[in-house]
Amino acid sequence: DKYTVAFLGLGHMGGPMAVNLVKAGYAVAGFDVVPAALDAATASGVPVAAGAVEAVSGADVVLTMFPSGRHVLDAYRGREGQPGLLAAAKPGTMFLDCSTINVDEAREAASLAIDAGHRSVDAPVSGGVVGAEAGTLTFMVGGDAADFEAVRPLLDIMGKRVVHCGAHGAGQAAKICNNLILGVSMIAVSEAFVLGEKLGLSHQALFDVASAASGQCWALTTNCPVPGPVPTSPANRGYQPGFAGALMAKDLSLAVNALNSTGVAARMGPLAAEIYGTFAAGEGAGRDFSGIITDIRDMSGR
Ligand code: NAD
Repeated sequence: DKYTVAFLGLGHMGGPMAVNLVKAGYAVAGFDVVPAALDAATASGVPVAAGAVEAVSGADVVLTMFPSGRHVLDAYRGREGQPGLLAAAKPGTMFLDCSTINVDEAREAASLAIDAGHRSVDAPVSGGVVGAEAGTLTFMVGGDAADFEAVRPLLDIMGKRVVHCGAHGAGQAAKICNNLILGVSMIAVSEAFVLGEKLGLSHQALFDVASAASGQCWALTTNCPVPGPVPTSPANRGYQPGFAGALMAKDLSLAVNALNSTGVAARMGPLAAEIYGTFAAGEGAGRDFSGIITDIRDMSGR
């Protein structure tokens, strides 16, 4: 038997994810606070409810896909006289949050849900809007083994890879640790290409060496920040995302929060967060994060 899913947050990611659940035969009750998102959902065949409480009251699973942890915690608890989702749901409901939020917030959301008599899983994603549409997202899941097994069939429809990372918050932890590696490595690859340019080394020569040597990494071999060596990388289409600078800046700021709260003696992570913060304060917000190379080149003179 398939769950009834309340799908809250029908934005860039949530919209197409909800479509895939409907196509797979799940009963979905969607809701978003923005009317245009509701209209788009209706147009793509996702049934929408009159409000969040209406969506949640008949649901077995409450899936949230919100911008930040503040939105998740406020919605769970309710605010400004609005009833919270935890109070509106029937006992034992699965609260499945797929938003990217702080690890501490994910743990808080889980204890709120469990204290209210529900179940909870954090399952942030990577793969972007393209992955959401194609149903090829990667889900990084935090929660009990039994709850992981319970949500797995649902995640398998929206994604191609579903990894149980550990207890509550571990999904968020895996996501920000991965993106910390990615943010730092993209800056390193970009600095190396600009240095190569200054030294008269061709992009292709540097790529041919580093891609088969110890400099090899995803930022180089899949998302190469210069056009040419990897024809499918965003550099070949004017840095259209891809993975937008705004999202990299967001994820790195979550990583910095976690670095600070755990006391890790990190230096590269906070620096990468600062670099991407500047990038995303301008046109970089909507460009692929590999466009950071143009900032580095521009600041390097002629
Ligand atoms: P988005 O802003 O397009 O969508 C979020 C939606 O949530 C909005 O439509 C907003 O109106 C709605 N919302 C907010 N509060 C609500 C509430 N209380 N009730 C109902 N709806 C509410 O954002 P997105 O790009 O879809 O991203 C969603 C999450 O996924 C973010 O946490 C983001 O970091 C993460 N993420 C995004 C991408 C991407 O490529 N866009 C990739 C991986 C992860």
